[in-house]
Amino acid sequence: MTTLSPDIAIAGAGLSASLAALRVAPAARVLLIDQRPDPLTGHTWSFHDGDIDAAQRAWLAPAIRRTWDGQDVRFPGHARQLRSGYASLDADSLGAVVAGLPNITVLNARVAFMDPQGVTLSDGRRIEAGVAIDARGFRPHPAIEVRFQKFLGQEIRLAAPHGLTRPVIMDATVPQQDGYRFFYLLPFDDTRLLVEDTFYSDAAHLSADRQRTAIADYVAAKGWQIAAVEREETGVLPITLRFDADAFWKDMPDIPAIGLRALRFHPLTGYSLPHAVRSADLIARHWQQGPRAVAHALRRDSLADARAQGFYRLLSRMLFEAAAPDERRRVMERFYRLPEPLIERFYAGQSTLADKARILTGRPPVPVSKALRCLSDTLKERPA
Ligand SMILES: Cc1cc2nc3c(=O)[nH]c(=O)nc-3n(C[C@H](O)[C@H](O)[C@H](O)COP(=O)(O)OP(=O)(O)OC[C@H]3O[C@@H](n4cnc5c(N)ncnc54)[C@H](O)[C@@H]3O)c2cc1C
Repeated sequence: MTTLSPDIAIAGAGLSASLAALRVAPAARVLLIDQRPDPLTGHTWSFHDGDIDAAQRAWLAPAIRRTWDGQDVRFPGHARQLRSGYASLDADSLGAVVAGLPNITVLNARVAFMDPQGVTLSDGRRIEAGVAIDARGFRPHPAIEVRFQKFLGQEIRLAAPHGLTRPVIMDATVPQQDGYRFFYLLPFDDTRLLVEDTFYSDAAHLSADRQRTAIADYVAAKGWQIAAVEREETGVLPITLRFDADAFWKDMPDIPAIGLRALRFHPLTGYSLPHAVRSADLIARHWQQGPRAVAHALRRDSLADARAQGFYRLLSRMLFEAAAPDERRRVMERFYRLPEPLIERFYAGQSTLADKARILTGRPPVPVSKALRCLSDTLKERPA
C-alpha cells in the first residue's frame, strides 16, 4: 500500500497502535506514523490469561511469542505456584505480524498536529484519513497523580539450562531498596531468560549501570552462567494514585485516543495490553461510522473503566502512601496469600465486592491511621 489517504491513520506505532492495526487491517487500510524508526524495539509485553477473552485471544494469537501454563511468586516467608496462564509478545513477534499484513503501512515521521480526520507532520505534510487516532504514548496530565514501576531487563542466554518452566512474575526475596523491589523472570526456552530488576518507587530515575550489576549478581547467586546478553529493555511505567477521568476527558480534543495517551492502563500493575486489546475491538466495531463514533466509544469505555478501577487506585495509595517504602513487600506478600481466583480477577481489573472486602480486611499490613486516610481519599475522588 503506498496510499497516504488511509481509512485509519494512527499517530504512534507502539503497542496500542500496532494492536489496533492488527485488529482492523483485514478490513481497513491503516497507516501507522511514528517518530522512531523502530517503535517496538526493546519491549516485551505480557498479560495474564484472564485479562482478555477467547475472541480477543484468537486475533492476538499470531503476535504472541511464548505462552506458559502457570506463574510463580516468591517472598521471604512464602512462595506460590499460580495456575493462571501467562503470555508475552515482543518487538519481533508483534512486528512480524504487523509487517506481514499488506493493509498496514508504517511511516517514520513526527506528527505535529492532529484532528479527527487527519494528521499534519512536522515537515508540513498533511495526511487525510477516514479516522485519525492518537496513540502517542504517555504524557503527564494534571488529572492524574502517578508513581512509578521502573525496571531494567536483560534477555540473556545461559551456558546451561536454568530449570525454570514458568515465569517468576515476582521474586521479592531480594534486598528491598528504593521502594518495593523484585526480580521478574521469563524463561523463553531452556537457556534463554528475560531477567528484570524492578522497583515500585516514588522516583522515576533508574541507574542502568547499577541495575546491570544487580542482574549479574542475581544470576550468579542462582548458580547460572551468562553466555551472552542478547538485548536490554528499560521501562518507567506510571502507577496511578489518583485520577479524575472526567477532568481528563474534558480536556481532550475530540480525537479518538488509545493506549497510554488515553491513560488506559491498570492503576497498580501498569499493564496496558488488555486495555489496548479492548480499544482495538472498539475501533474495529466503529471505524466505519467515522471519528466521532470511535472517539465516543473509546471515551465511554475509558470513563466506565476509570469508575471501576477506583479500588486499584486505593491499593496504589495504600502501597505508596500508607506503607513505608521498606514495608511495601509485606503488603504484596499478604496479597499473594489470597485465593487464586481473587488474584486472577484482580489482574483482569474485575475484582468483585467480596474480593475487595477480602483484600482490605484482616490484619492490615499498613498502619490503620494511614490506611484510613487512603480510604477517605477514595470518598473524595470525583467519580468518573
Ligand atoms: C519495556 C516496557 C515493558 C512493558 N511491559 C509491559 C507488559 O509486560 N505488559 C503490559 O501490559 N504493559 C507493559 N508495559 C506498559 C505499556 O503497556 C507499554 O508502555 C506500552 O508500550 C504502551 O503502549 P502505547 O501504545 O500507549 O505507547 P508506546 O508503545 O509507548 O507507543 C507510543 C509511540 O508514539 C510515538 N510518538 C510519540 N509522539 C509522537 C509524535 N509526535 N509523532 C510520531 N510518533 C510519536 C513514540 O515514538 C512511541 O513509539 C511495558 C512498558 C515498557 C516501557
